[in-house]
Amino acid sequence: MHDKNVAELSAGLKNGDFSSEELTRVYLNRIESLDKDLNSFISVTAEQALAAARIADQQYKSGTAGPLTGIPIAQKDIFCIQGVRTSCGSKMLANFIAPYDATVVTRLNEAGMVMLGKTNMDEFAMGSSNENSFYGAVKNPWDLLAVPGGSSGGSASAVAAQLAPVATGTDTGGSIRQPASLCGITGLKPTYGRVSRYGMIAFASSLDQGGPMARSAEDAAMLLNAMAGFDHHDSTSVDREVPDYTGNLDQSIEGLRIGIPAEFFAEGLDDGVASVIQAALQEYEKMGASLVDISLPNSGLSIPTYYVVAMAECSSNLSRFDGVRFGHRCEDPVDLEDLYKRSRGEGFGAEVKRRIMIGTYALSAGYYDAYYLKAQQLRHLISDDYKKAFEQVDVIMGPTAPSVAFDIGEKSDDPVSMYLSDIYTIAVNLAGLPGMSIPAGFVDNRPVGLQIIGNYFDESRLLNIAHQFQCETNWHKQVPPGYE
Ligand code: GLN
Repeated sequence: MHDKNVAELSAGLKNGDFSSEELTRVYLNRIESLDKDLNSFISVTAEQALAAARIADQQYKSGTAGPLTGIPIAQKDIFCIQGVRTSCGSKMLANFIAPYDATVVTRLNEAGMVMLGKTNMDEFAMGSSNENSFYGAVKNPWDLLAVPGGSSGGSASAVAAQLAPVATGTDTGGSIRQPASLCGITGLKPTYGRVSRYGMIAFASSLDQGGPMARSAEDAAMLLNAMAGFDHHDSTSVDREVPDYTGNLDQSIEGLRIGIPAEFFAEGLDDGVASVIQAALQEYEKMGASLVDISLPNSGLSIPTYYVVAMAECSSNLSRFDGVRFGHRCEDPVDLEDLYKRSRGEGFGAEVKRRIMIGTYALSAGYYDAYYLKAQQLRHLISDDYKKAFEQVDVIMGPTAPSVAFDIGEKSDDPVSMYLSDIYTIAVNLAGLPGMSIPAGFVDNRPVGLQIIGNYFDESRLLNIAHQFQCETNWHKQVPPGYE
């Protein structure tokens, strides 16, 4: 059963070929036997999953089931779930039982989905390799020596290894698309404001966005249908109608204008990755699309801009984890200052501390104008590049990441080289645009993702374009050996 896509699983449940309880057990058994190597889950909620599956089976009997009823899902451990530990990959929240559900969780529950557990992630979503998790590194099922990407590495690894049919992720600078690329799955970061951030533990609030991670665009569309929509709990959520994202998948892409930014194919891009992307672009030409050379001249500014904005915002967001209101509390503090210092010193890992320090510095009196304000100005320039490009083209394509998955440990001592893994994804968050990564081939048996960037609220078009590629190619159907 685990090799079926969501639409097939949904049909199987509807026809009574199998029950949700049977399906859920299949995935729970796979997690039990296969996740020892991968470490893609932080918590497995087996009892709850089986209880939810039984309710779903009742709904099929009573005729009240929807398309996602009874379908298992893995939730990134950044989404608060009432009564369930929500660790965000950190020791700081190792004992945090969320008192309420994130809106995304409420919506997926209302759709009848069955949560299998919470997936591993870089601590507070900071990272590109999943090596920053307090719960240990996640492995890439395509090669256990390789990273799965980050920060949604647990979700990507679990979906690629078929331990869950779909999963949620969050993307602040690439954390859905980059691990999707490195693990050979399909991931979509929606337009900022499309999916509610309520109950999604904040990293950099002006950039964070949740989205679906799946094996195919069709599955991602089904999941986005349930995730997207206005939420009065989130003041940045946009009140705009949610289309049926599965409704547009079959439309022809004849005449589509695809922008190819010169800056995405310059120095730093691995040759093997470049050839895979060129071949994917030729496939699009065969389908009737035209390729248009474009320029995004401020691309080189996106990493420095992001690392000022993201660090400034995280230093503010993470101030709430003080050992009093939230988070790990040290033993026997002598006074309040000692409590703060030791609780935060013990609770946060090295990368999180580095970012809080840099962010606090960038926001401090005398430096604010030089760093944060300047970064906000650059953010406008970067967004303007995209605005201009979308006057000429319908979508933009290029690589998701400059290389395939690197080895575990390869970049852990070099934060700057790690930050460069997101060179093609970060500007999309700074501009608030939607972006996708879809499997496009392999280099040395490690997957390569093609990135598709759209204009604001163009998720439907992205999913259509991705689906058309997946009708012509089989890259998204490849399964890592040992996980068939
Ligand atoms: N890798 C980037 C970072 O470390 C992006 C992370 C993310 O999107 N959550 O900040």
